[in-house]
Amino acid sequence: MRLVIFGPPGAGKGTQASILAENYAIPQLSTGDILREATETGSELAKRSAAIMNEGKLVDDKTMLAIIEERIQRPDCAGGFILDGFPRTLAQAKGLEALMVKFDTALDHVIELAVDDEELIHRIAARVRASESSRSDDTPETLRKRLVVYHDQTAPLLPFYEERQLLRKVDGMKPVHEVKARIASILGG
Ligand code: AMP
Repeated sequence: MRLVIFGPPGAGKGTQASILAENYAIPQLSTGDILREATETGSELAKRSAAIMNEGKLVDDKTMLAIIEERIQRPDCAGGFILDGFPRTLAQAKGLEALMVKFDTALDHVIELAVDDEELIHRIAARVRASESSRSDDTPETLRKRLVVYHDQTAPLLPFYEERQLLRKVDGMKPVHEVKARIASILGG
């Protein structure tokens, strides 16, 4: 099973990706997590990425594609993977498509978690109030910037995947267990 979990920041991609990873026993590849782990190395590249992430902007496509190309070749991805937070630009989606051809495989589904902006801002404000987040980019101000980036650069992937008949839209405003059940029915059917 090769999946992309797609949606705006705060839509619940990580939550659903980790449920799926456990159910299908395949890895959850969160590019945000990979970048956050890399920032701990203190390299030049890591410092540059950390600054970009804190501003809510996107790390460049070449870097992201190199990370994914390396990661999906590891043995734990032989039975599939769940991409969480990648691709985020048209160039990344096209690069991923080329990688799938290169490795003689294909994506099975792109699952879109649809949540409106107002709800996302409300969710993050609640997380900040409850001090639930330890991420330095988890602030209402950065979220607003990330939403602009999402609408400008990431949302154009929706028609791209629709054309390829890979897009499955799920209402991400529903409670976690309902979203989970809806995704399970898509994957089961
Ligand atoms: P996330 O944990 O998916 O919300 O990602 C956190 C931050 O990491 C994003 O705001 C970006 O700065 C960076 N990032 C994660 N994935 C990507 C990607 N596919 N392309 C570019 N930047 C990314």
